[in-house]
Amino acid sequence: MRRPLSITTLGYDELAEKAHRIAGAGGRGHLHTTPPGCLITGSPRRAIVLEATDEGAVYGFFDDQPIEDRAKPLAILLHGADSVPDDHETLEPASAAVNTMADRMRAGKGHFHILNPVCLANPNPGQWTILFEDVELGVLESASDERPLADIRLVERLIYA
Ligand SMILES: [Zn+2]
Ligand SMILES: [Zn+2]
Repeated sequence: MRRPLSITTLGYDELAEKAHRIAGAGGRGHLHTTPPGCLITGSPRRAIVLEATDEGAVYGFFDDQPIEDRAKPLAILLHGADSVPDDHETLEPASAAVNTMADRMRAGKGHFHILNPVCLANPNPGQWTILFEDVELGVLESASDERPLADIRLVERLIYA
């Protein structure tokens, strides 16, 4: 894992155009939203980070204002609207490790990332990693070979709560 990622800065409209181009071509790409001080950007600003996997390039839109609302349509475009299971679907409980991270998040101690197997920020390439940047404990992580649906659902609920 290179920390921070090497990021080409774009305006929001340019970043959105990149995302549309990748989705339109059926290419691989994904987004991260990052708070100030995040390991992915190493920046004091907030960012929407777009990994263009097929290009091997990373683009970022940086701003001081909250960016979740602007990231959401791009995330739906790239990740799909139903990439996360519905609440009523019966799933295994989240893992003990991710439940611990969730408790830390509820206590305001840090933020989550869901890192897929091709993510350049993933410390466990080829695996899924749920990563929590804890302001007191450092980086906590939980890696798995299969997409950890129950863990992802818990994390998404906390992020968008
Ligand atoms: Zn982060
Ligand atoms: Zn990534």
